[in-house]
Amino acid sequence: MKIYISADMEGVAGVVTDAQLGPEGFAWRDACELYTEEVLAVIDELRSAGATDITVSDSHGTGLNLKIERMPAGVRLVQSWPRRLGMMEGIDASYDGAILLGYHAGSHNPRGVRAHTMSSANVFDVALNGAKVCEAELSGYIAAHFKVPILMLSGDDAICAEIAASLPECETAVVKHAISYHSADSLTPADAIGVLRTATRRAIDRRSEIQPRALTGAVTMDITFKNHRPTELLAYLPNVEQLDAHRVRFVGQDITEVSSFFEFALNYSPDLKP
Ligand SMILES: [Zn+2]
Repeated sequence: MKIYISADMEGVAGVVTDAQLGPEGFAWRDACELYTEEVLAVIDELRSAGATDITVSDSHGTGLNLKIERMPAGVRLVQSWPRRLGMMEGIDASYDGAILLGYHAGSHNPRGVRAHTMSSANVFDVALNGAKVCEAELSGYIAAHFKVPILMLSGDDAICAEIAASLPECETAVVKHAISYHSADSLTPADAIGVLRTATRRAIDRRSEIQPRALTGAVTMDITFKNHRPTELLAYLPNVEQLDAHRVRFVGQDITEVSSFFEFALNYSPDLKP
């Protein structure tokens, strides 16, 4: 059994604010520890449920938060950026299931710790085929393109509620309750790990009932930027349409093409080095 784990950090128990989310913050190293422990617990539970092959993607911030030296032998770790498939880089049709760990609500959700979609600094919201999506839904559609179901998602109560319509069969593990954008009522790491293990085990037991939900045909992505210039410049590309001052549209033949465009739109800058 081959399982892919896409791991983000804002939905980890005990992680609530920006001082924990990047190397410039005074509490980042401690948060990396909490993050690594949650991933290790899920790996351990997956292995005891029969998983033989596990890939983890560190899909938060710099993509360099998980401690690779703490990962057990045999696990693969995807790090850093850019990646065409973003938070799902490395997934393919050989996987039996995927887990979204430490995820958070989308930018259009009025609730949720650090509710944003891909970039809290630059992106107002993202829609696929006209429906606003969060990162979990984007990851779910990428997995589904390869016929891989999302078996389990963990995070705060806001993201677990948000995906109820789009990923209805997926197991959820609520490790904290959102109070505001930068506040939560969190389980302790030990309790969160118990909840994660239970949900992981249940997800593996139920995996034959959980179906991937793919987008069929061409996929339209509308990105609303917070600023004017990304919109203006992206619309210079012949396959990008400017919808209004903040919004561009790209139509791809499938979700993987859309994901490449999205990663380009978020990462390209002419002063990139090397
Ligand atoms: Zn995220």
